[in-house]
Amino acid sequence: MDKEIKKDEQLSEELYRVARKGDTEAPFTGEYWNNHEKGVYKCAICGTKLFSSDTKFDSGTGWPSFTNPMNLEHVELIPDNTHGMVRTEVRCKKCGAHLGHIFDDGPKEKGGKRYCINSVCLELEKEHN
Ligand SMILES: [Zn+2]
Repeated sequence: MDKEIKKDEQLSEELYRVARKGDTEAPFTGEYWNNHEKGVYKCAICGTKLFSSDTKFDSGTGWPSFTNPMNLEHVELIPDNTHGMVRTEVRCKKCGAHLGHIFDDGPKEKGGKRYCINSVCLELEKEHN
């Protein structure tokens, strides 16, 4: 069922830089920050289902933002104290890709979390209707 995990040499330069080196794409440049189509956002490297468009919201930050992952078992949350900030890094559990970070300024009524994810690490599988 699962797609194979793409090898490093198959990744675009930017995806490699973000997913494998922990970099962050420039805000308002990615494919999905302002995307409102319905579907499932999958890992761009291994195809694991990570986020549903149902939990996506406009955070104004320029990165795709979600209140929750589809399945907490599909992500790995790692304390990250780099850059003088205390943050939680989000990684794809299956392939270890760096996806983004979690912040506590998400919509209160939805739990208050903001999963701030790099577009380049995601691939939207649109909902068919
Ligand atoms: Zn993955």
